[in-house]
Amino acid sequence: MHVADFDVAVIGAGAAGLCAAAELSAAGLSVAVIEARDRLGGRIYTHLAPAFPYPIELGAEFIHGEAPVTRESLRRAGLAAVDTAGRRLTRHTRGLSAEGDGFEEVERLMRHAASLQQDESIAQFLSDRGSRYAPETLARVRMMAEGFDAADPQRASVKAIAQEWGGSSLEGSSRPLGGYAPLLDHWARTLDVTRSRLLLSTEVQAIEWGGEVVRIVARRASRTLALSTQRAIVTLPVSILQLRPTEPGAVRFDPDLRDKARALAGVVLGPVIKVVLQFRRPFWEELDDRRLGDALFLHAADAPFPTLWTALPLRIPLLTAWTGGPGAERLSGAGRSQVIEHALASVQHILAVAEGRMLEELSTAHVYDWRSDPFSRGAYCYLAVGGQEAPALLAKPLRDRLYFAGEGAASGQIGTVEAAVASGRDAARGIIRAAQAHAGR
Ligand SMILES: Cc1cc2nc3c(=O)[nH]c(=O)nc-3n(C[C@H](O)[C@H](O)[C@H](O)COP(=O)(O)OP(=O)(O)OC[C@H]3O[C@@H](n4cnc5c(N)ncnc54)[C@H](O)[C@@H]3O)c2cc1C
Repeated sequence: MHVADFDVAVIGAGAAGLCAAAELSAAGLSVAVIEARDRLGGRIYTHLAPAFPYPIELGAEFIHGEAPVTRESLRRAGLAAVDTAGRRLTRHTRGLSAEGDGFEEVERLMRHAASLQQDESIAQFLSDRGSRYAPETLARVRMMAEGFDAADPQRASVKAIAQEWGGSSLEGSSRPLGGYAPLLDHWARTLDVTRSRLLLSTEVQAIEWGGEVVRIVARRASRTLALSTQRAIVTLPVSILQLRPTEPGAVRFDPDLRDKARALAGVVLGPVIKVVLQFRRPFWEELDDRRLGDALFLHAADAPFPTLWTALPLRIPLLTAWTGGPGAERLSGAGRSQVIEHALASVQHILAVAEGRMLEELSTAHVYDWRSDPFSRGAYCYLAVGGQEAPALLAKPLRDRLYFAGEGAASGQIGTVEAAVASGRDAARGIIRAAQAHAGR
């Protein structure tokens, strides 16, 4: 019998991978975590800027809704979360309007979508049945699908979006105090050093899982590294799993992943560009007769970055500019200065502030284009038309050798940290049960 180097290999050191590795290590299994980047976190990327005492989240930032697994993980790590607070305002030609105005109409449209017998795309739904709703409602639904879900309305399932918006994800949010990174560091620190290895800057190229063990081939600096394990948890973003084996950046599976074809056809990783603008002071609080002092989210459907948010409840000089879906797709790959220009133009438009005043206050800009990142190729998943079963299908293990986790492999709250953490924990628990059953045989 071949003795494997490790009980389990975890591919990817994002939220799903690190949570899984911590759970496996706590159960006494030996674990190798293999990560292509030179840092932990994947799509969680807490940046600490020089001489600025607050974390800057270039990836995930909020805890949406109840998120019980995330909140419990934070509690166990001794970390706190702070509820967001503040108003949502939208810029129209006639000025700013507050949230609540017309939102019942969005809810009515979503109830209608949820009751459809047959799934269809958001774009189709809006064009075929839109005449029953006000044009502002249709524009708002489209903006929310593109912004909040990073979705292309031509591809996204209207039933899935209706279900998601009907759940707890839109009902209030929090942020981990100090950012998300301390949670990931906590998981990494809890790995048993005598039996675990955390390999950064190590890009997995092939996973051979047809035999008695799983063999993993990876590239580290210019060297090839191979290790064998009893089982593996694959937490690669679905965009990587969807690549053809010959495409650059693809991971070769042997046997191939044909059993996952239906699952992978049902999810799409949407693009996002996030620009965090660091100012000298939160100058917007003084604008518009101080009406913006308690603004958390600000929108304008016609801006290149249609959503801005402040750091409330912290009154600190950060404004985040956000574009997702087709808008982000169009801008992805543009140079940094062009992206910043669009972000600043959006701030100017949404806040109705003079350019000179805004630039006087600007200190620096932090930009992240997630579509152009080779190890994520997008921000987070949404379900394609007919894709409701996809996350559960993706999460199914193959032959008690390959387990799958990640934000696209969790049926609840797809596209979130909660989905990633819950799926990582579930995959680890599946392996622990299988290993115990095997040992007791
Ligand atoms: C801009 C942005 C904002 C977001 N905002 C929120 C938010 O506010 N709230 C929320 O809940 N969620 C948010 N999300 C989503 C959240 O970040 C993700 O759902 C979650 O972090 C995904 O975790 P994961 O472990 O599934 O995947 P990842 O974090 O992508 O982990 C997978 C890991 O695999 C690695 N990898 C890729 N290829 C290879 C390879 N060949 N070999 C080895 N390793 C490889 C990657 O580098 C990565 O570290 C946001 C995401 C983005 C991008």
